Amino acid sequence: MRLSLEEKRNLQQWLEAEIKHEQREQDKEMIAESATVKPLNVSSTNSAIVESCSYEGRTYQLERRRCGKKACKCVGADLRSSGHGPYWYAYWKESGKLRTQYIGKRAPWQESSS
Ligand SMILES: [Zn+2]
Repeated sequence: MRLSLEEKRNLQQWLEAEIKHEQREQDKEMIAESATVKPLNVSSTNSAIVESCSYEGRTYQLERRRCGKKACKCVGADLRSSGHGPYWYAYWKESGKLRTQYIGKRAPWQESSS
């Protein structure tokens, strides 16, 4: 089958358009993939991060939280003003799993005032 010059040009244009389209789709997938990689500290609806920093290989976050009790004042209120705390929580990875530990009102690097 022989194609005329016109037909070859059309074919070339079509191919180029197809290639560009494919590339765009691939780029989209890559962006979507990187977007699904969640950062270490995702603020949930039950905690509000006041402060965040790292110390001795762990991430420490000062958070206000909801306790989960239905009759508590923290239910339905703005976490940043009515949540419990703020208290420090430590986050670190151990054998691939994210671990959390309650620290308390004072961060480990803060001097005791009493
Ligand atoms: Zn509560």
